[in-house]
Amino acid sequence: MKTLRVTLTGMMALFGTSVIWAQSGAGVDRLYVLDCGWSHNADESRWTPGLNVGKPIDMSENCYLIHHAQGYFLWDTGYSDKVADMPDGQVSGGGATVVRRSKTLAAQLSAIGVSPSDIKFVGISHTHPDHTGNVELFPQATLMIQKVEYEAAMSAKSPAIAATHPVMKLEGDKDVFGDGSVTIISTPGHTVGHQSLLVHLPKTGWVILTGDAVHLKDNWDNRRVPSMNVDKEKTVASMQRLADLMEEHHAQLWINHDKVQSDQQKHAPEYYD
Ligand SMILES: [Zn+2]
Repeated sequence: MKTLRVTLTGMMALFGTSVIWAQSGAGVDRLYVLDCGWSHNADESRWTPGLNVGKPIDMSENCYLIHHAQGYFLWDTGYSDKVADMPDGQVSGGGATVVRRSKTLAAQLSAIGVSPSDIKFVGISHTHPDHTGNVELFPQATLMIQKVEYEAAMSAKSPAIAATHPVMKLEGDKDVFGDGSVTIISTPGHTVGHQSLLVHLPKTGWVILTGDAVHLKDNWDNRRVPSMNVDKEKTVASMQRLADLMEEHHAQLWINHDKVQSDQQKHAPEYYD
């Protein structure tokens, strides 16, 4: 057996791993859903214009850790781990939103034996604070972000991303590992350079991680666009792009902020394979 394994390894080195994985489609073997906080919001109509006025809603905030043969890829970094130390949560908008974190991202990675320095790539859907809170926990990881989103974020007063952070500025889609198993999909509208993620898992199949291309299942079903989005038409076009990908790949849609859906999912240390 040992001889066989050496031979296979040698073959992979010879032909290049990307070719082998493209054939098997098995470059990704694990996807962990990590609890990156949750928010209590006093008025759902911020996301559903004209509807649910004054109705409170809780929203989930997930990060997703993907293990690929070439290394770890983290999708979004959630609310800052500092929120875990705030007993009453982080309050904003005069109480309109209260954010809590029951555990840190660092602790959840540690619990599955992953050190922040093990993360090769960090992809962020966009640069709102609920997605960039822990970017600098991974100062060595290459940040994968749309160029327009990066430039907008870095022109802010105190950017969440350090100027020294290694970054790959994207202009459109990006096949992260070169084998089609993890693809960043450009989905502008919520922000100028918003992006989503298409992942293939050997048993689970295809999954789309929405980021904030859509916030709630009901908004998806009704193609509803929150008033905070920078571009309504682009948001609708991006939702259609994701719908087309779903149909093409028979993919599941995992909506980051939909707490009803998120509560039904396995969270780390459990994982999807
Ligand atoms: Zn968000």
